[in-house]
Amino acid sequence: MSIEGHSTAPGANVIVEHYCEHRHADGTRCKEWGGWGHSPSPAVPTRWWCFEHFPHKSYEQEQALRRKLEAAEREKEMSQ
Ligand SMILES: [Zn+2]
Repeated sequence: MSIEGHSTAPGANVIVEHYCEHRHADGTRCKEWGGWGHSPSPAVPTRWWCFEHFPHKSYEQEQALRRKLEAAEREKEMSQ
């Protein structure tokens, strides 16, 4: 069901889709696109997460995300 990732290049169709692999506490999978990949070495398959769940964020990225979440939280409170 992937729309993107299809390519005619040889070997390019190994991974056609990679959604965030994070699982919520209730066991459901995160539905965000996994645009953030990480692999400790070329021998290890890359794992993918959305930005929010990406566990290898830099300090600056972590701070930026926190600010974004806090701003969304404030907005939610104000609309109640
Ligand atoms: Zn996610």
